[in-house]
Amino acid sequence: MAQTSAVLFFSKPRLQSLLDELRTRGYCVVGPTIDQEAIIYDEILSVDELPRGWTDEQAPGQYRLRRRDDDAWFGYVVGPHSWKKYLFPPKTTLLSAEKTANGWEFIPRADDSTSFALLGVRACELAAIRIQDRVFLDGPYQDPLYRERRQRLFIVAVNCTQAASTCFCTSMKTGPRCEQGFDLALTEIDSGFLCDVGSDVGQDVIAVCSAVEATSEQQQSAASARQQAVDQIERRMDTSDLPGLLLGNLDHPRWKEVGDRCLSCTNCTMVCPTCFCSSVTEIRDLNMDRVDRERSWDSCFNPDFSYLGGSLVRNDTASRYRQWLTHKLDSWQNQFGTSGCVGCGRCITWCPVGIDLTEEVAAIRETSTP
Ligand code: SF4
Ligand code: SF4
Repeated sequence: MAQTSAVLFFSKPRLQSLLDELRTRGYCVVGPTIDQEAIIYDEILSVDELPRGWTDEQAPGQYRLRRRDDDAWFGYVVGPHSWKKYLFPPKTTLLSAEKTANGWEFIPRADDSTSFALLGVRACELAAIRIQDRVFLDGPYQDPLYRERRQRLFIVAVNCTQAASTCFCTSMKTGPRCEQGFDLALTEIDSGFLCDVGSDVGQDVIAVCSAVEATSEQQQSAASARQQAVDQIERRMDTSDLPGLLLGNLDHPRWKEVGDRCLSCTNCTMVCPTCFCSSVTEIRDLNMDRVDRERSWDSCFNPDFSYLGGSLVRNDTASRYRQWLTHKLDSWQNQFGTSGCVGCGRCITWCPVGIDLTEEVAAIRETSTP
């Protein structure tokens, strides 16, 4: 993507023009909105559906919405949803087979033609999309559904101006500033949005916002707002001995301790924006004349996920937690050349017993076998 250097500014009401323009171009605009007392991602038609004036307070095993002192439109961090549901849907029918007079007919399931425009993508989430691009597109076999959706994607990133206590993107070098991988990147200030353009189509679309070159005062306000997020990040993960630390300590007693606390509920993998495991199931109808092959998100915390040769390979919770963490932070790097973690903190917030991977890594390091 071409990235232009001029930073633009437009007033807040103009964001509706951007939404309208994207919809006119055929995009389904999905962005942050409030549902069931959480900020989730869903289709939005109007800026009135944004979580204006709300923020999210997060801690291990805790998430609460709270009213802000101001009317910020993007003054929250990240919630339980991630954008992966639009590129790698939780459930997909891959193929159907129907019995006909001439035998079985196989019908490949084409993806619907929806083009998504993502509004409000954070820097760690851009990094997560890059990681999933490696997984689904860079190997010898590409995932056609992911590829088609990814090619049609439009991304409006929004720089964080606030961080949660669970964020550690600075340790993972994924944020909080959006540096690449967007069509447009906004920074919210009181009077409007500053906008970096990251692609030719972004340049084309932003024309509807009557954007002008940002003044130095506006740029200074945006820099201060972004710095506020940097200053709020307190959680750290030391990555200096990763990969190696975890795979070098497979018999560490900490695995048993965390296994005793872990419920194997799969929450951490469901909310993680980079986890990509799935299972394929064939479901036949009651008349036995139709079979659908469905792919669904799965998790290495599910016992059946390691069923092999008539038994479970990882038959206790400690071994399943160890599999998740060693893959995420250690063997992922050998497999894909990056860490599998972008430091978004979701797995910490949404773990019902508050297991925190940054603490687990530190505990293993503290008494690791040299
Ligand atoms: S492992 Fe946890 S902190 Fe890392 S990307 Fe996944 S959900 Fe976010
Ligand atoms: S670490 Fe927490 S979220 Fe993950 S499976 Fe265990 S209990 Fe569930």
